[in-house]
Amino acid sequence: MRFSEILGHTKELNILKGAITGGRVAHAYLFAGPDGIGKRQAAFALATALNCREFREDACGQCPDCEKAGRSVHPNINEVWPTIKAKGRTKDTEDGADEPREALEKAERPEDGLIRIPQIREILGFLKLRIDHGRKVVIIDAADRLMSAAANAFLKTLEEPPDASVIILVTAHPGLLPATVLSRCQRINFSPLQDSTVAAYLTAGQGVGRAEAIEAAGLSQGSISRAISLACGGAVERRGSVLERLGAVPMGDAFKAMQMAEELAKMDGLEEALEFIKGWYRQTATENEIAEGQSGNGAFRRIWTSYRAVDEALYDITPPRYANRQITMEAMMLKIAGLAR
Ligand SMILES: [Zn+2]
Repeated sequence: MRFSEILGHTKELNILKGAITGGRVAHAYLFAGPDGIGKRQAAFALATALNCREFREDACGQCPDCEKAGRSVHPNINEVWPTIKAKGRTKDTEDGADEPREALEKAERPEDGLIRIPQIREILGFLKLRIDHGRKVVIIDAADRLMSAAANAFLKTLEEPPDASVIILVTAHPGLLPATVLSRCQRINFSPLQDSTVAAYLTAGQGVGRAEAIEAAGLSQGSISRAISLACGGAVERRGSVLERLGAVPMGDAFKAMQMAEELAKMDGLEEALEFIKGWYRQTATENEIAEGQSGNGAFRRIWTSYRAVDEALYDITPPRYANRQITMEAMMLKIAGLAR
């Protein structure tokens, strides 16, 4: 991965390039920003650049180091991600200190896993190795999943990292990291990508039609991965269909509201549908907040109530809560139809 292959983030990447050319690379970085916008790629681009033998503003992409980094087998680059305990093992404890390494497997969703003490021990061992070229780089994905005991084990190293090493913490939730960890890292904030950047990528890189690319980009909240799943998974049509059916439920019509609740509860992609509805209310609320000042018609309050109802329902049905879908949808629809508070 080269800096030039990353979409957007020109300012942030220039800071990193400048640090390399100026010999001012920090020992620890925090790459913060929403999911799916390219933070992890930026971490890999930095790791590659620090090990490239022909670096000039960017990694060369040709040398043996770039080649190994490209295949994710470079001995100087180590990535850590949240893990779950393999099946049949003992349950989680906050200091899983004696868990054997092989009992851990990568969590499919970072929020389901933790970065554990045995993983940090392995990293500390790696950082002690002597190398004759480049830098040892550790990339910690979803760093907010660092178990507090693991974060403690790590702190001293963050403060006095071994020579020729760089630690990059990548997270969408920097607020969840202990202040003691945050204060030891140079923070780089990555912003959501511009809609136009996302749309251009969808048309050029993914062969998505222009109209659909623009719509998906507008819904993507600046995240490439979200935009791809929207544009390539037919989500744009699914969103249109859900919003159309919701629009056919008149205020105060309990029968239609219950019908819609049942329909939603039976849907396979219920969480996605609720995200669409929530996004629509948020957008409409923003537009009405501006109009409200002039008309004072209470539309904003009504939309806001609906937004809150959808947000709460979404929270209730997702793991680990798993509320009853039918009951949750009924309560939500009654609020949306103005029949309950
Ligand atoms: Zn190279």
